[in-house]
Amino acid sequence: MYIKTIGHYINGQHTSGTGSRYSQVFNPATGQVQAQLNNANAVDVEAAISAAQAAFAEWSATPALRRSRIMFKFKALLDEHADDLAKAISLEHGKTISDARGEVTRGIEVVEFACGMPQLMKGDYNDQVGTGIDTYSMRQPLGVVAGITPFNFPIMVPLWMIPMALATGNTFVLKPSEKTPSASLMIADLLAQAGLPAGVFNLVNGDKEAVDVLLQDKRIQAISFVGSTPIAEHIYSTGSKNGKRVQALGGAKNHLIVMPDADLDQVADALIGAAFGSAGERCMAISVAVTVGNVADALIAKLSEKVQSITIDQGLNEQADMGPLVSAEHYAKVKAYVDLGVAEGATLVIDGRAYQHQGYEQGYFLAPCLFDHVKKNMRIYQEEIFGPVLSVVRATSFEEALQLVNDHEFGNGVAIFTRDGEIAREFTQRVQAGMVGVNVAIPVPIAFHSFGGWKRSLFGDHHIYGSEGMRFYTRLKTTTSRWPAGNKAAGAEFVMPTMK
Ligand code: NAD
Repeated sequence: MYIKTIGHYINGQHTSGTGSRYSQVFNPATGQVQAQLNNANAVDVEAAISAAQAAFAEWSATPALRRSRIMFKFKALLDEHADDLAKAISLEHGKTISDARGEVTRGIEVVEFACGMPQLMKGDYNDQVGTGIDTYSMRQPLGVVAGITPFNFPIMVPLWMIPMALATGNTFVLKPSEKTPSASLMIADLLAQAGLPAGVFNLVNGDKEAVDVLLQDKRIQAISFVGSTPIAEHIYSTGSKNGKRVQALGGAKNHLIVMPDADLDQVADALIGAAFGSAGERCMAISVAVTVGNVADALIAKLSEKVQSITIDQGLNEQADMGPLVSAEHYAKVKAYVDLGVAEGATLVIDGRAYQHQGYEQGYFLAPCLFDHVKKNMRIYQEEIFGPVLSVVRATSFEEALQLVNDHEFGNGVAIFTRDGEIAREFTQRVQAGMVGVNVAIPVPIAFHSFGGWKRSLFGDHHIYGSEGMRFYTRLKTTTSRWPAGNKAAGAEFVMPTMK
Protein backbone atom coordinates (compact mmCIF):
# COMPACT_ATOMS: atom_id res chain seq x y z
CA MET A 1 0.00 0.00 0.00
CA TYR A 2 1.60 3.30 -1.12
CA ILE A 3 1.29 6.41 1.03
CA LYS A 4 0.74 8.64 -1.97
CA THR A 5 0.89 8.86 -5.75
CA ILE A 6 2.80 11.76 -7.26
CA GLY A 7 1.55 13.17 -10.55
CA HIS A 8 1.97 16.37 -12.52
CA TYR A 9 0.86 20.02 -12.54
CA ILE A 10 -0.50 21.19 -15.86
CA ASN A 11 -2.42 24.38 -16.65
CA GLY A 12 -3.04 25.20 -13.01
CA GLN A 13 -4.27 21.69 -12.10
CA HIS A 14 -2.73 18.69 -10.39
CA THR A 15 -3.22 15.64 -12.62
CA SER A 16 -2.39 12.00 -12.13
CA GLY A 17 -1.16 11.55 -15.72
CA THR A 18 -2.46 9.51 -18.62
CA GLY A 19 0.23 6.84 -18.70
CA SER A 20 0.54 3.62 -16.73
CA ARG A 21 4.28 3.65 -16.06
CA TYR A 22 5.19 4.23 -12.41
CA SER A 23 8.45 4.43 -10.49
CA GLN A 24 9.06 4.32 -6.76
CA VAL A 25 10.19 7.12 -4.50
CA PHE A 26 12.19 5.96 -1.49
CA ASN A 27 13.05 7.27 1.93
CA PRO A 28 16.84 6.80 1.78
CA ALA A 29 17.16 6.54 5.56
CA THR A 30 14.80 3.59 5.86
CA GLY A 31 15.04 2.14 2.37
CA GLN A 32 11.23 2.10 2.34
CA VAL A 33 9.06 3.12 -0.61
CA GLN A 34 7.13 6.22 0.43
CA ALA A 35 5.35 7.11 -2.80
CA GLN A 36 4.84 6.03 -6.37
CA LEU A 37 5.45 8.46 -9.18
CA ASN A 38 3.57 8.52 -12.46
CA ASN A 39 6.08 8.86 -15.31
CA ALA A 40 4.77 11.41 -17.78
CA ASN A 41 4.27 10.18 -21.32
CA ALA A 42 4.15 12.23 -24.53
CA VAL A 43 0.47 13.11 -24.02
CA ASP A 44 1.17 14.60 -20.57
CA VAL A 45 4.26 16.52 -21.69
CA GLU A 46 2.54 17.86 -24.78
CA ALA A 47 -0.39 19.01 -22.63
CA ALA A 48 2.07 20.91 -20.41
CA ILE A 49 3.76 22.50 -23.42
CA SER A 50 0.38 23.47 -24.92
CA ALA A 51 -0.69 25.09 -21.65
CA ALA A 52 2.59 27.04 -21.51
CA GLN A 53 2.26 28.05 -25.16
CA ALA A 54 -1.29 29.29 -24.65
CA ALA A 55 -0.28 31.31 -21.58
CA PHE A 56 2.73 32.95 -23.24
CA ALA A 57 1.04 35.80 -25.13
CA GLU A 58 -0.63 37.29 -22.07
CA TRP A 59 2.22 36.60 -19.65
CA SER A 60 4.89 38.08 -21.90
CA ALA A 61 2.72 41.19 -22.42
CA THR A 62 2.20 41.58 -18.66
CA PRO A 63 4.29 44.55 -17.46
CA ALA A 64 7.55 43.39 -15.91
CA LEU A 65 6.62 45.22 -12.73
CA ARG A 66 3.47 43.13 -12.30
CA ARG A 67 5.42 39.94 -12.98
CA SER A 68 7.84 41.05 -10.29
CA ARG A 69 5.06 41.63 -7.80
CA ILE A 70 4.12 37.97 -8.19
CA MET A 71 7.76 37.08 -7.54
CA PHE A 72 7.69 39.16 -4.35
CA LYS A 73 4.64 37.21 -3.15
CA PHE A 74 6.26 33.93 -4.19
CA LYS A 75 9.34 34.82 -2.15
CA ALA A 76 7.20 35.57 0.93
CA LEU A 77 5.41 32.22 0.52
CA LEU A 78 8.70 30.37 0.17
CA ASP A 79 9.89 31.99 3.41
CA GLU A 80 6.65 30.97 5.11
CA HIS A 81 6.91 27.36 3.90
CA ALA A 82 10.69 26.98 4.13
CA ASP A 83 10.48 24.32 6.83
CA ASP A 84 7.89 22.22 4.93
CA LEU A 85 10.05 22.42 1.82
CA ALA A 86 13.17 21.42 3.76
CA LYS A 87 11.36 18.47 5.30
CA ALA A 88 10.12 17.28 1.90
CA ILE A 89 13.68 17.52 0.53
CA SER A 90 15.19 15.63 3.46
CA LEU A 91 12.65 12.80 3.34
CA GLU A 92 13.35 11.96 -0.31
CA HIS A 93 16.99 12.99 -0.67
CA GLY A 94 18.26 11.99 2.78
CA LYS A 95 20.20 15.21 3.40
CA THR A 96 19.97 16.75 6.85
CA ILE A 97 17.16 19.16 7.59
CA SER A 98 19.62 21.97 8.38
CA ASP A 99 21.35 21.44 5.03
CA ALA A 100 17.95 21.35 3.29
CA ARG A 101 17.06 24.68 4.92
CA GLY A 102 20.29 26.12 3.54
CA GLU A 103 19.33 24.85 0.08
CA VAL A 104 15.92 26.52 0.34
CA THR A 105 17.56 29.80 1.40
CA ARG A 106 19.94 29.73 -1.57
CA GLY A 107 16.96 29.13 -3.88
CA ILE A 108 14.97 31.98 -2.32
CA GLU A 109 17.91 34.30 -2.99
CA VAL A 110 17.42 33.80 -6.73
CA VAL A 111 13.71 34.68 -6.38
CA GLU A 112 14.77 37.81 -4.48
CA PHE A 113 17.12 38.71 -7.31
CA ALA A 114 14.42 38.09 -9.92
CA CYS A 115 12.14 40.56 -8.10
CA GLY A 116 14.43 43.27 -9.52
CA MET A 117 13.99 42.11 -13.11
CA PRO A 118 12.49 45.39 -14.42
CA GLN A 119 15.80 47.08 -13.61
CA LEU A 120 17.90 44.23 -15.02
CA MET A 121 15.92 44.03 -18.26
CA LYS A 122 16.09 47.77 -18.84
CA GLY A 123 17.08 48.52 -22.43
CA ASP A 124 19.47 51.02 -24.00
CA TYR A 125 18.44 54.17 -25.82
CA ASN A 126 20.52 56.49 -28.01
CA ASP A 127 18.92 59.51 -29.54
CA GLN A 128 20.32 61.16 -32.65
CA VAL A 129 22.50 58.25 -33.81
CA GLY A 130 22.03 59.98 -37.19
CA THR A 131 20.19 63.15 -37.95
CA GLY A 132 16.65 62.66 -36.67
CA ILE A 133 17.34 58.98 -36.03
CA ASP A 134 17.10 57.19 -32.67
CA THR A 135 18.09 53.64 -31.72
CA TYR A 136 16.87 51.59 -28.80
CA SER A 137 17.44 48.03 -27.65
CA MET A 138 15.22 45.84 -25.53
CA ARG A 139 15.27 42.29 -24.30
CA GLN A 140 12.24 40.11 -24.92
CA PRO A 141 11.33 36.64 -23.60
CA LEU A 142 11.86 33.54 -25.71
CA GLY A 143 8.52 31.73 -25.28
CA VAL A 144 8.07 28.31 -23.67
CA VAL A 145 11.23 27.20 -21.89
CA ALA A 146 11.97 23.96 -20.03
CA GLY A 147 14.02 23.02 -16.99
CA ILE A 148 15.35 19.52 -16.29
CA THR A 149 16.81 19.13 -12.81
CA PRO A 150 18.86 16.64 -10.75
CA PHE A 151 17.99 14.79 -7.55
CA ASN A 152 20.42 16.56 -5.28
CA PHE A 153 18.82 20.02 -5.05
CA PRO A 154 15.06 19.60 -5.56
CA ILE A 155 14.34 23.24 -4.59
CA MET A 156 17.52 25.22 -5.18
CA VAL A 157 18.27 24.09 -8.73
CA PRO A 158 14.69 24.56 -10.05
CA LEU A 159 14.82 28.02 -8.42
CA TRP A 160 18.01 28.80 -10.33
CA MET A 161 15.74 28.70 -13.39
CA ILE A 162 12.05 29.33 -12.64
CA PRO A 163 12.10 32.89 -11.20
CA MET A 164 14.56 34.05 -13.86
CA ALA A 165 12.50 32.59 -16.70
CA LEU A 166 9.13 33.78 -15.38
CA ALA A 167 10.22 37.28 -14.38
CA THR A 168 11.62 37.80 -17.88
CA GLY A 169 8.22 36.86 -19.35
CA ASN A 170 8.67 33.23 -20.42
CA THR A 171 6.37 30.35 -19.58
CA PHE A 172 7.85 27.20 -18.12
CA VAL A 173 7.77 23.40 -18.06
CA LEU A 174 9.80 21.78 -15.27
CA LYS A 175 10.87 18.13 -15.31
CA PRO A 176 12.35 17.46 -11.85
CA SER A 177 14.27 14.37 -10.79
CA GLU A 178 12.12 11.29 -10.42
CA LYS A 179 14.02 10.47 -7.22
CA THR A 180 13.11 13.66 -5.32
CA PRO A 181 9.89 15.04 -6.87
CA SER A 182 7.77 16.22 -3.90
CA ALA A 183 9.51 19.46 -2.92
CA SER A 184 9.68 20.59 -6.56
CA LEU A 185 5.95 19.97 -6.90
CA MET A 186 5.27 22.21 -3.90
CA ILE A 187 6.69 25.12 -5.94
CA ALA A 188 3.68 24.85 -8.28
CA ASP A 189 1.19 25.49 -5.47
CA LEU A 190 3.19 28.38 -4.04
CA LEU A 191 3.40 30.05 -7.46
CA ALA A 192 -0.37 29.65 -7.89
CA GLN A 193 -0.95 31.15 -4.43
CA ALA A 194 1.32 34.05 -5.39
CA GLY A 195 -1.07 34.84 -8.24
CA LEU A 196 0.70 33.27 -11.22
CA PRO A 197 -1.86 32.66 -13.98
CA ALA A 198 -2.62 29.04 -14.92
CA GLY A 199 -0.38 27.64 -17.65
CA VAL A 200 2.58 29.95 -16.96
CA PHE A 201 4.28 27.28 -14.83
CA ASN A 202 3.79 23.57 -15.47
CA LEU A 203 5.52 20.52 -14.07
CA VAL A 204 5.77 17.01 -15.45
CA ASN A 205 7.31 14.24 -13.41
CA GLY A 206 9.09 11.38 -15.08
CA ASP A 207 12.23 10.25 -16.80
CA LYS A 208 13.85 10.01 -20.25
CA GLU A 209 10.48 9.58 -21.99
CA ALA A 210 9.36 13.02 -20.80
CA VAL A 211 12.74 14.62 -21.53
CA ASP A 212 12.74 13.28 -25.08
CA VAL A 213 9.48 15.11 -25.78
CA LEU A 214 10.93 18.37 -24.42
CA LEU A 215 14.00 17.90 -26.63
CA GLN A 216 11.95 17.31 -29.77
CA ASP A 217 8.96 19.65 -29.45
CA LYS A 218 9.41 22.72 -31.66
CA ARG A 219 7.46 24.92 -29.23
CA ILE A 220 10.20 24.61 -26.60
CA GLN A 221 12.55 27.54 -27.24
CA ALA A 222 15.19 26.88 -24.60
CA ILE A 223 16.28 24.21 -22.14
CA SER A 224 18.12 24.65 -18.86
CA PHE A 225 19.56 21.35 -17.67
CA VAL A 226 21.48 20.47 -14.52
CA GLY A 227 22.68 16.90 -13.96
CA SER A 228 25.47 14.50 -14.84
CA THR A 229 27.89 15.17 -17.68
CA PRO A 230 26.86 12.39 -20.10
CA ILE A 231 23.20 13.50 -19.92
CA ALA A 232 24.17 17.20 -20.06
CA GLU A 233 26.13 16.56 -23.24
CA HIS A 234 23.22 14.63 -24.75
CA ILE A 235 20.74 17.39 -23.85
CA TYR A 236 23.04 20.06 -25.26
CA SER A 237 23.73 18.32 -28.57
CA THR A 238 20.15 17.14 -29.15
CA GLY A 239 18.54 20.38 -28.02
CA SER A 240 20.93 22.51 -30.09
CA LYS A 241 20.43 20.29 -33.15
CA ASN A 242 16.71 20.92 -32.75
CA GLY A 243 17.27 24.68 -32.78
CA LYS A 244 16.89 25.35 -29.07
CA ARG A 245 18.99 27.54 -26.85
CA VAL A 246 20.57 25.20 -24.27
CA GLN A 247 22.53 25.62 -21.07
CA ALA A 248 23.48 22.20 -19.68
CA LEU A 249 25.39 22.05 -16.42
CA GLY A 250 27.16 18.77 -15.78
CA GLY A 251 29.24 16.89 -13.24
CA ALA A 252 32.32 17.87 -11.31
CA LYS A 253 35.49 16.83 -9.55
CA ASN A 254 36.31 19.82 -7.40
CA HIS A 255 39.85 20.22 -6.06
CA LEU A 256 40.97 22.11 -2.98
CA ILE A 257 44.63 23.13 -3.08
CA VAL A 258 46.32 23.22 0.32
CA MET A 259 49.37 25.48 0.25
CA PRO A 260 52.11 24.89 2.86
CA ASP A 261 51.30 28.18 4.60
CA ALA A 262 47.59 27.41 5.05
CA ASP A 263 46.09 27.09 8.53
CA LEU A 264 45.60 23.32 8.68
CA ASP A 265 42.80 23.43 11.25
CA GLN A 266 40.83 25.74 8.97
CA VAL A 267 41.61 23.50 6.00
CA ALA A 268 40.55 20.33 7.83
CA ASP A 269 37.25 21.91 8.95
CA ALA A 270 36.61 23.17 5.44
CA LEU A 271 37.37 19.77 3.91
CA ILE A 272 35.20 17.85 6.35
CA GLY A 273 32.19 20.05 5.56
CA ALA A 274 32.80 20.30 1.83
CA ALA A 275 33.61 16.62 1.23
CA PHE A 276 31.13 14.93 3.55
CA GLY A 277 28.30 17.48 3.89
CA SER A 278 25.19 16.26 2.05
CA ALA A 279 27.04 12.89 1.91
CA GLY A 280 29.18 14.36 -0.88
CA GLU A 281 26.16 14.61 -3.18
CA ARG A 282 26.82 18.21 -4.22
CA CYS A 283 28.18 19.33 -7.55
CA MET A 284 30.31 21.78 -5.55
CA ALA A 285 31.51 19.17 -3.03
CA ILE A 286 35.28 18.93 -2.68
CA SER A 287 36.34 15.44 -3.71
CA VAL A 288 40.10 16.02 -4.13
CA ALA A 289 42.49 17.72 -1.71
CA VAL A 290 45.83 18.53 -3.33
CA THR A 291 48.50 19.04 -0.69
CA VAL A 292 51.52 21.10 -1.72
CA GLY A 293 54.85 20.41 -0.02
CA ASN A 294 54.91 18.47 3.21
CA VAL A 295 51.50 19.15 4.69
CA ALA A 296 49.78 15.85 3.79
CA ASP A 297 50.66 13.83 6.89
CA ALA A 298 49.63 16.58 9.29
CA LEU A 299 46.43 17.25 7.37
CA ILE A 300 45.46 13.58 7.26
CA ALA A 301 46.01 13.30 11.01
CA LYS A 302 43.66 16.24 11.57
CA LEU A 303 41.05 14.89 9.13
CA SER A 304 41.18 11.45 10.77
CA GLU A 305 40.49 13.02 14.14
CA LYS A 306 37.73 15.39 12.99
CA VAL A 307 35.92 12.72 11.00
CA GLN A 308 35.21 10.87 14.24
CA SER A 309 32.96 13.67 15.45
CA ILE A 310 30.67 13.64 12.39
CA THR A 311 27.12 12.73 13.47
CA ILE A 312 25.53 10.44 10.90
CA ASP A 313 21.77 10.02 11.12
CA GLN A 314 18.49 10.21 9.25
CA GLY A 315 18.04 13.73 7.92
CA LEU A 316 15.28 14.93 10.23
CA ASN A 317 17.56 14.74 13.26
CA GLU A 318 18.48 18.40 13.86
CA GLN A 319 21.84 17.31 15.27
CA ALA A 320 22.86 15.22 12.24
CA ASP A 321 25.81 16.36 10.08
CA MET A 322 25.37 13.81 7.33
CA GLY A 323 22.57 11.52 6.14
CA PRO A 324 22.36 8.53 3.80
CA LEU A 325 22.97 8.42 0.05
CA VAL A 326 19.94 8.89 -2.17
CA SER A 327 19.30 5.35 -3.43
CA ALA A 328 20.39 1.73 -3.23
CA GLU A 329 21.91 1.99 -6.75
CA HIS A 330 23.85 5.09 -5.87
CA TYR A 331 25.07 3.51 -2.61
CA ALA A 332 26.32 0.48 -4.57
CA LYS A 333 28.03 2.75 -7.12
CA VAL A 334 29.85 4.85 -4.51
CA LYS A 335 30.90 1.77 -2.54
CA ALA A 336 32.21 0.17 -5.74
CA TYR A 337 34.38 3.26 -6.31
CA VAL A 338 35.91 2.80 -2.85
CA ASP A 339 36.63 -0.86 -3.68
CA LEU A 340 38.16 0.31 -6.95
CA GLY A 341 40.39 2.84 -5.20
CA VAL A 342 41.80 0.08 -3.01
CA ALA A 343 42.35 -2.11 -6.09
CA GLU A 344 44.05 0.78 -7.89
CA GLY A 345 46.59 1.07 -5.06
CA ALA A 346 45.45 4.19 -3.20
CA THR A 347 45.74 4.06 0.61
CA LEU A 348 42.32 3.90 2.26
CA VAL A 349 42.99 5.77 5.49
CA ILE A 350 39.36 5.92 6.63
CA ASP A 351 37.02 3.17 5.48
CA GLY A 352 33.30 3.89 5.86
CA ARG A 353 32.10 0.89 3.86
CA ALA A 354 31.13 -1.32 6.79
CA TYR A 355 29.03 1.36 8.44
CA GLN A 356 25.50 0.41 9.37
CA HIS A 357 23.19 2.89 11.04
CA GLN A 358 21.57 1.34 14.05
CA GLY A 359 17.81 1.05 13.67
CA TYR A 360 18.12 1.95 9.96
CA GLU A 361 19.86 -1.14 8.62
CA GLN A 362 17.97 -0.93 5.31
CA GLY A 363 19.00 2.71 4.78
CA TYR A 364 21.72 3.78 2.32
CA PHE A 365 24.25 4.99 4.89
CA LEU A 366 27.90 5.09 3.89
CA ALA A 367 30.31 6.68 6.36
CA PRO A 368 33.11 9.02 5.21
CA CYS A 369 36.00 7.48 3.28
CA LEU A 370 39.43 9.07 2.94
CA PHE A 371 42.06 8.02 0.41
CA ASP A 372 45.71 9.06 0.50
CA HIS A 373 48.35 8.69 -2.24
CA VAL A 374 45.77 9.03 -5.00
CA LYS A 375 47.39 9.35 -8.43
CA LYS A 376 46.37 11.14 -11.60
CA ASN A 377 45.92 7.94 -13.61
CA MET A 378 43.46 6.35 -11.16
CA ARG A 379 39.77 6.21 -12.03
CA ILE A 380 38.85 7.34 -8.51
CA TYR A 381 40.74 10.56 -9.37
CA GLN A 382 39.39 11.00 -12.86
CA GLU A 383 35.71 10.17 -12.41
CA GLU A 384 32.95 11.82 -10.41
CA ILE A 385 32.00 9.60 -7.44
CA PHE A 386 29.32 11.86 -5.90
CA GLY A 387 29.54 10.41 -2.42
CA PRO A 388 31.40 10.91 0.88
CA VAL A 389 34.79 10.00 -0.54
CA LEU A 390 37.75 12.38 -0.31
CA SER A 391 40.98 11.74 -2.18
CA VAL A 392 44.28 13.29 -1.16
CA VAL A 393 46.78 13.86 -3.97
CA ARG A 394 50.28 14.88 -2.95
CA ALA A 395 51.95 17.53 -5.12
CA THR A 396 55.42 18.97 -4.74
CA SER A 397 54.72 22.47 -6.00
CA PHE A 398 52.02 25.05 -6.70
CA GLU A 399 52.63 24.60 -10.44
CA GLU A 400 52.04 20.85 -10.20
CA ALA A 401 48.83 21.40 -8.21
CA LEU A 402 47.55 23.98 -10.70
CA GLN A 403 48.37 21.68 -13.61
CA LEU A 404 46.35 18.87 -12.02
CA VAL A 405 43.26 21.08 -11.88
CA ASN A 406 43.77 22.41 -15.38
CA ASP A 407 44.31 18.96 -16.88
CA HIS A 408 41.13 17.54 -15.34
CA GLU A 409 38.16 17.08 -17.66
CA PHE A 410 35.83 18.88 -15.22
CA GLY A 411 36.08 22.53 -14.27
CA ASN A 412 33.17 23.34 -11.99
CA GLY A 413 34.43 24.69 -8.66
CA VAL A 414 37.94 24.87 -7.21
CA ALA A 415 39.47 26.30 -4.05
CA ILE A 416 42.84 27.31 -2.72
CA PHE A 417 43.74 27.71 0.94
CA THR A 418 46.73 29.95 1.54
CA ARG A 419 47.81 33.07 3.42
CA ASP A 420 49.78 34.33 0.40
CA GLY A 421 47.85 36.88 -1.64
CA GLU A 422 50.24 36.68 -4.57
CA ILE A 423 49.78 32.90 -4.91
CA ALA A 424 46.01 33.25 -4.54
CA ARG A 425 45.90 35.88 -7.27
CA GLU A 426 48.09 33.82 -9.57
CA PHE A 427 45.78 30.87 -8.98
CA THR A 428 42.55 32.74 -9.69
CA GLN A 429 44.05 34.15 -12.89
CA ARG A 430 45.33 30.88 -14.32
CA VAL A 431 42.97 28.19 -13.07
CA GLN A 432 40.62 26.58 -15.59
CA ALA A 433 37.35 26.46 -13.64
CA GLY A 434 34.15 28.47 -13.53
CA MET A 435 33.94 29.14 -9.78
CA VAL A 436 36.97 29.77 -7.61
CA GLY A 437 37.22 29.94 -3.82
CA VAL A 438 40.09 31.63 -1.98
CA ASN A 439 39.97 30.22 1.55
CA VAL A 440 36.34 29.36 0.70
CA ALA A 441 35.76 25.66 0.05
CA ILE A 442 32.35 25.84 -1.67
CA PRO A 443 32.33 29.05 -3.73
CA VAL A 444 28.71 28.92 -4.95
CA PRO A 445 28.14 32.44 -6.32
CA ILE A 446 25.44 34.56 -4.72
CA ALA A 447 22.29 35.16 -6.82
CA PHE A 448 23.47 38.47 -8.32
CA HIS A 449 26.52 36.76 -9.78
CA SER A 450 26.04 33.63 -11.92
CA PHE A 451 26.73 29.91 -11.45
CA GLY A 452 28.51 27.67 -13.92
CA GLY A 453 31.56 25.58 -14.64
CA TRP A 454 34.04 25.29 -17.48
CA LYS A 455 35.15 22.36 -19.64
CA ARG A 456 32.89 19.30 -19.33
CA SER A 457 31.04 20.81 -16.36
CA LEU A 458 28.96 23.07 -18.61
CA PHE A 459 27.78 22.84 -22.20
CA GLY A 460 26.51 26.09 -23.67
CA ASP A 461 27.40 29.76 -23.50
CA HIS A 462 25.60 30.99 -20.44
CA HIS A 463 26.04 30.37 -16.75
CA ILE A 464 22.82 30.10 -14.76
CA TYR A 465 20.90 32.83 -12.82
CA GLY A 466 22.23 36.37 -12.22
CA SER A 467 22.65 38.58 -15.29
CA GLU A 468 23.74 35.52 -17.33
CA GLY A 469 20.36 33.93 -16.55
CA MET A 470 18.52 37.05 -17.67
CA ARG A 471 20.44 36.98 -20.97
CA PHE A 472 19.79 33.26 -21.44
CA TYR A 473 16.02 33.69 -21.10
CA THR A 474 15.75 36.78 -23.33
CA ARG A 475 16.80 37.88 -26.77
CA LEU A 476 17.87 41.27 -27.91
CA LYS A 477 15.86 43.44 -30.25
CA THR A 478 17.29 46.71 -31.54
CA THR A 479 15.07 49.29 -33.24
CA THR A 480 16.30 52.17 -35.38
CA SER A 481 13.60 54.77 -35.99
CA ARG A 482 13.03 58.12 -37.63
CA TRP A 483 9.95 60.21 -38.15
CA PRO A 484 10.48 62.27 -41.33
CA ALA A 485 7.86 64.83 -42.23
CA GLY A 486 5.48 63.54 -44.89
CA ASN A 487 6.62 65.97 -47.60
CA LYS A 488 10.33 65.21 -47.41
CA ALA A 489 10.73 62.09 -49.56
CA ALA A 490 14.38 61.96 -50.71
CA GLY A 491 14.07 59.18 -53.28
CA ALA A 492 15.29 55.57 -53.05
CA GLU A 493 18.84 54.95 -51.76
CA PHE A 494 20.78 52.02 -53.16
CA VAL A 495 23.90 52.15 -51.04
CA MET A 496 24.32 50.54 -47.61
CA PRO A 497 22.66 53.02 -45.23
CA THR A 498 25.06 55.05 -43.09
CA MET A 499 24.10 57.59 -40.47
CA LYS A 500 24.33 61.22 -41.55
P1 NAD B 1 21.20 12.75 -13.93
O1 NAD B 1 21.99 13.26 -15.06
O2 NAD B 1 21.08 11.28 -13.74
O3 NAD B 1 19.70 13.30 -14.02
C1 NAD B 1 19.42 14.67 -14.21
C2 NAD B 1 18.08 14.80 -14.90
O4 NAD B 1 18.15 14.20 -16.19
C3 NAD B 1 16.93 14.13 -14.15
O5 NAD B 1 15.79 14.95 -14.24
C4 NAD B 1 16.75 12.82 -14.91
O6 NAD B 1 15.42 12.34 -14.87
C5 NAD B 1 17.14 13.20 -16.33
N1 NAD B 1 17.72 12.08 -17.09
C6 NAD B 1 18.45 11.05 -16.59
N2 NAD B 1 18.82 10.23 -17.58
C7 NAD B 1 18.33 10.75 -18.72
C8 NAD B 1 18.39 10.35 -20.09
N3 NAD B 1 19.03 9.25 -20.48
N4 NAD B 1 17.78 11.12 -21.01
C9 NAD B 1 17.13 12.24 -20.63
N5 NAD B 1 17.03 12.64 -19.36
C10 NAD B 1 17.63 11.93 -18.40
O7 NAD B 1 21.78 13.45 -12.60
P2 NAD B 1 21.40 13.15 -11.09
O8 NAD B 1 21.95 11.83 -10.70
O9 NAD B 1 19.97 13.45 -10.84
O10 NAD B 1 22.23 14.31 -10.37
C11 NAD B 1 23.57 14.19 -10.01
C12 NAD B 1 24.47 14.79 -11.07
O11 NAD B 1 24.12 16.15 -11.28
C13 NAD B 1 25.94 14.82 -10.67
O12 NAD B 1 26.70 14.47 -11.80
C14 NAD B 1 26.18 16.25 -10.27
O13 NAD B 1 27.51 16.70 -10.40
C15 NAD B 1 25.29 16.95 -11.22
N6 NAD B 1 24.94 18.28 -10.74
C16 NAD B 1 25.53 19.33 -11.35
C17 NAD B 1 25.26 20.61 -10.92
C18 NAD B 1 25.90 21.79 -11.56
O14 NAD B 1 25.50 22.88 -11.26
N7 NAD B 1 26.87 21.62 -12.42
C19 NAD B 1 24.37 20.81 -9.85
C20 NAD B 1 23.77 19.71 -9.26
C21 NAD B 1 24.07 18.44 -9.72
